[in-house]
Order: sequence, then structure tokens, then C-alpha cells
Amino acid sequence: MPESKKKEKLSWPLVGNSHIIDFLSKSITNEKIANAYIFFGPQDLGKSTVANYFAKCLLCQSKAKLKRDEIVSPCGECVSCLAFSRIKKSNSGQSQEEEAGIIHGDFHLIEREKDKKNISIEQAREFIKGLNLSSFLGSYKVGIIKEADSLSLEAANALLKTLEEPKEKVVIILIAANLESIPATIVSRSQVLNFYPVKTDIIHNYLVDEHKVSRSLAKNLSKISLGRPALAVKFLKDKNFYKDYTDKAKIFLDFVRQDINERLAGIEKTIGAGFSGQEGSKKAFKILEIWQGVARDLLLLDLGQKDLIQHHTIIEEFARPGGKFNPGITTLIKIIKNLEIGKEYLGANVSPKLVLENIAINIS
Ligand SMILES: [Zn+2]
Repeated sequence: MPESKKKEKLSWPLVGNSHIIDFLSKSITNEKIANAYIFFGPQDLGKSTVANYFAKCLLCQSKAKLKRDEIVSPCGECVSCLAFSRIKKSNSGQSQEEEAGIIHGDFHLIEREKDKKNISIEQAREFIKGLNLSSFLGSYKVGIIKEADSLSLEAANALLKTLEEPKEKVVIILIAANLESIPATIVSRSQVLNFYPVKTDIIHNYLVDEHKVSRSLAKNLSKISLGRPALAVKFLKDKNFYKDYTDKAKIFLDFVRQDINERLAGIEKTIGAGFSGQEGSKKAFKILEIWQGVARDLLLLDLGQKDLIQHHTIIEEFARPGGKFNPGITTLIKIIKNLEIGKEYLGANVSPKLVLENIAINIS
């Protein structure tokens, strides 16, 4: 790929998944914009970031959107682009998209409210109402639905009605982890774009080139983020988030050499207060995923596959004192199975505390 084209692609805030940038950019160039898009794939691949940038491109008031090597970019100077850039500068603690909705009259967003299981019909109605108003800037109206997997049945039906009678220049982007969780009637009316995990070396090079991090840090972050560039960047930018992750990984390594009482005390310490309901289940699910990763690493260590280890810095730190911390292949396989069962229990609404305690009890 010529250098200029490579650089231009990077103007879209995404690493990997260039097929999606190409597609969206071409659809703007050819004025073939769908009424609805579904961006789906695992978390932290940059789906929201791309949805926002695509919205910014669509809402840009520049007649000739900047085009180089066929990749469209917003002008950065018009009233719409300026509204978007104000979002970045503001620091009110709201999410960037929430801010966007406030600052930009033609941009709407819904996401599941904290501690609610679903996106409600009321939220969907408000969202549709906003999109049905005529455009403030006389062009597109763009709506983004985050965690579209969590639309309630009524909310999905209200949305379907809107999609059945599409309005010109109204674009809805649904973001979801799984396509199966979105009603087929909505899927069939949408342009579906699948985001894939990104190769570790691509994330590694991106961190070195764009974020100027050292090669050893890039190696650590690209492995630990398991193909999810947005997660690698989150680890890089948010030290507390990274510490929280590594603390949770280390708890599991501690478990392996602790007795049952120490482990239960560890659970108590990890979850603290407010660990119930949907948010508690979500947090517990993330913890189990981290532990699965660490358990897999210990298995790989036992099998002599050091190169494939995800958490090499954490494991090296633990291995150094020379203490016995690897429970062996048979036990690890059992633990990995229990972690998987724990995730199923969480899905079936078993108390998150109970699920984690069960894992801790059955670790040896
Ligand atoms: Zn613009």
C-alpha cells in the first residue's frame, strides 16, 4: 500500500478493519447511504468510534468532503464539525456521545441506562422523535444506538416501524456485540458490518507509530488486549483502568496458592459494595473473562508455549520469587471449565457474588 494511502486511512480513528472504512467512505462518495447500519463484533474494536466518525462525515456541511485516495474525511471547519470538536474539548464527565447529542441538534444517541437490563420503549420513542424532527442544518440526521443487543422488545418494535417507513437522510447506526440478539426483521432492513479482532502485530505497530510507546510496552498492551485496539488504547490512557485489570488478574494468581478462607476474603475485597443486579453481573463476567485468560496462560506455561501467553508481565512477576504458583494441567482444565460454567450462571441471573465464591471454593 502506498504510504500516502496508509496515512490517509489513519485519519479515520480505527486500526484494523480497513474493509469497513473503505466501505463507509465509498458509500459517502457514491451517495449510497443506507437508512440503517448494524456494526457488530466483540467489544473494544472501535465500533462506537467509527460510528461517531461516520456520523461526523455525514453531518459535515462541506459540499466537497475532503477526499484523498478515495477516503472521505470531515472538513473539520464547518459548524457541524466544530460542534463535534467542541465535544472533545469539553470535560463535564459526560460521555462524548452524550455531549454530542447536546451540542449537535442533528445527532442523537441512546444507550442502556446504568443498572437497567434493557433500552426502554420511552428511550426509543424519544430517540425516534428526535430523528423525525427536520434537520437543523438542512442535511442528515444521525442516530446511534449503543448496546443495541439490549433493546427491549417494545423498543425494537418501535424502531422497526421507523425502519419500515424510512425517511430520506435519516441514518440509524446500531452497535451490538452479537447479531443474533437483534430481531431478524431489523437485521434484514440494515446494512450489516462485521468488525473483527485485529492482529496483535498491527496493534503493536499502531501503538508504537501513533502513540509513541516503547516496544516492550506495546508488546505487553497488544497481547493483553487480545485483538481489541480500543482496549489497548484504554489501557494506555487510563492508568487506573489498567491497574484495576492487573489487580484482578493477580487475585487469580493469588488464589492458586491460597487456602479457601483467604480466597473468600479475596472475593469479598474484590467485589466490595454495590455488586448486585445487572451491573454486578457485568462486572463479574469481566472478572471471569480475565481469570480465564490468566488460567489459559498458566496452561500455556505448563505446555511450554511461552510465546502465546497473554499476560506475560504479570505472570513473570509472579514466577520470579520461585514459589509454586502453577496448579498443573488437570487442575487448570477444571478451573477453566468452572469459569465457563460461572459465565453461564451469570447469564441465568445467579447472584454474581455467589458465582465468584463458587469459583474460589472449587479452585483446587
Ligand atoms: Zn465539516
